Formats: sequence, C-alpha cells, structure tokens
Amino acid sequence: MELGLTGRVAIVAAVSKGLGRAVAEELAREGAHVAICARTATTLAETAAHIQKTTGCEVLHQALDVTDFTAVAAFVTAVEARFGRIDICVTNAGGPPSNSFENTKPEDWRSAVDQLLMSTVFFAKETLPRMQKNKWGRLITSSAVKQPVDGLLLSNSIRSAVTGLARTLANEYAADGITVNNVCPGYTRTARLDGLASTISASSGSKPEEVFAHWEREIPAGRLGTPREFAAVVAFLASERASYVNGASIAVDGGLVRSLL
Ligand code: NAD
Repeated sequence: MELGLTGRVAIVAAVSKGLGRAVAEELAREGAHVAICARTATTLAETAAHIQKTTGCEVLHQALDVTDFTAVAAFVTAVEARFGRIDICVTNAGGPPSNSFENTKPEDWRSAVDQLLMSTVFFAKETLPRMQKNKWGRLITSSAVKQPVDGLLLSNSIRSAVTGLARTLANEYAADGITVNNVCPGYTRTARLDGLASTISASSGSKPEEVFAHWEREIPAGRLGTPREFAAVVAFLASERASYVNGASIAVDGGLVRSLL
C-alpha cells in the first residue's frame, strides 16, 4: 500500500528510544521529513544520525523537555522554518512512575499531568493552527486507556484525559482536513517496560523474566509487541490512506484488551 507520506513533514516527540524512536524511523522509511525531540542532546543526536544513515532522510533534532511550553513552541517554529510546513504531529512522553494511591503525593500528580496531558496540549496548540492553514493534518496521541494497568495509577488516570482531549480535537478540527487519533500500546518491549518489570520484581520477589512470562500469558498473541509493530499503525494513521479514520482509539496490543470496542 502506498501511504503517501513522501515529502510530508512529521514532528515526533520524546524520541531518543522506545516507541517514539520507532515511529520516527518508520515515518522516515516512508519518505517523510522528520523532526524529533527528547531531553538529552547526545542520545537524541545519535538517534537522529542513525535515522539519517538508515533512511537517507534529513532529520531535524532539538533537545527539549516536552513539559516546557516555550521550548515546544520554539521547536515547532523551527521545524516550520526548516521544512516550510507541518503535516503530522505524534505526541509522546515518558511514562510516570508506578505507585499506590496512598504513596502518591500531590506534586507527583502535577508532574504526571505536565508530562502526559500538558505536553500533548502544547504540541496540539502549536501544530493544529499550522495544519489548518494547509487544510491537511494528522495529530496522533499515544495513550492506553481501554483498561487500567495494575500499579500504574498516574498513567491510568491522566491518559484518560489525553484521550478525552484527542477525541474532542477530532470533532473540532475535522472540517479542516485534520484527523486526530489515539493509539493504545499494549506491552511493548522497550526500556520503559524493562523498568516496570524491575519495579514489580523488586516489590513482589518474582524474577523479571517471571514478570514478562506473566504478561505474555495475559496476551492472546502470547508475546510482547515490538516498537516497530506499534510504529506501523501510527504510520498508517499519519498517511493519506487513513483520511476517514478520525477520533479513534486503536489498540496495538496483541489482543490484550478483551472489550468489544
Ligand atoms: P521509554 O522510556 O523507552 O522512552 C521514552 C522516551 O521519552 C525517551 O526517549 C525519553 O528520553 C523521552 N522522554 C521522557 N520524558 C521526556 C520529557 N519530559 N521530554 C522529552 N522527552 C522525554 O518509553 P516507551 O516504552 O517508548 O513508552 C513511551 C510512552 O508510551 C510512555 O509514556 C509509556 O508509559 C507509554 N506506554 C508504553 C508501553 C510499553 O509497553 N512500552 C505501553 C503502554 C504505554
């Protein structure tokens, strides 16, 4: 299937590793111009160099924290100045730590809201008016909301707000040729999941490989996902071919969530 991504300009947030990095690589392989950001300049530069080398695509990169509105705004302005337009924005950020409700402090809640919800608001605020000018755009958020994950209080709570935001923007911007969709990753093998397995292992006394085996038994596919499998769905949603998919939350989880919708 020709996705029609050649020459499209895509911003992908929080990209030095994991799902964000896989999405940036996939879009670049499909011929998009890619602009990426993450906090650590050195690892981000290495990621940009890798994508450039493996795809031949020029990659703009800027070290920033996605919770910093001024930095996000300057980045989006720089991307438009370099490539002339912005067509696609994939929001992403690191996940908040796991904890019980009892041990979660007010400042932990505020920091998780900044990381997950406000970072999405910032990118949406800066990119949607630019997409509106061109009467074409794709905003893609990543937020697993269909079923809470045990121990991930902050993530379960605040990601629902991200999905509410995405669904509302889908209604407000559809008339301008912009689609807004949300992708829900299941257990996908990244540094974040390794960290989660170690945390559970430390508190439960199980070995990390037993934690992974437990997750795999929960998944009808019988295995964890790969970042590239997640990225393929994002690339489709970002494409010309997904023009009539709007306001959807699509699970990429090997069948983990048992709900009908
Ligand atoms: P990861 O920890 O492997 O990668 C996170 C990336 O975000 C890194 O590049 C990191 O540098 C960057 N980052 C973190 N905080 C940032 C900030 N404030 N500003 C800029 N960059 C920042 O995580 P991942 O597995 O790729 O997951 C990405 C998101 O998806 C997380 O929010 C995670 O909780 C969520 N998620 C992951 C899974 C999974 O199984 N991997 C499942 C469901 C949801």
